[in-house]
Amino acid sequence: MYHGSDTRGWVYPGRTVVEGDWPAAIPEHCTATDSDTQTLAGGLVIVCTGCGLDCT
Ligand SMILES: [Zn+2]
Repeated sequence: MYHGSDTRGWVYPGRTVVEGDWPAAIPEHCTATDSDTQTLAGGLVIVCTGCGLDCT
């Protein structure tokens, strides 16, 4: 599946998407950039704030 509008944003099926109230329901609809991230679990996990995709 693809992530965001950037053509580099290929992500493999099976990548973790954190459950949450994200603006985009699926990574293909995400418009966030690489800098739109949020850390969880004390910085151990980095997720996209647009869709919750695990970017760690
Ligand atoms: Zn995203």
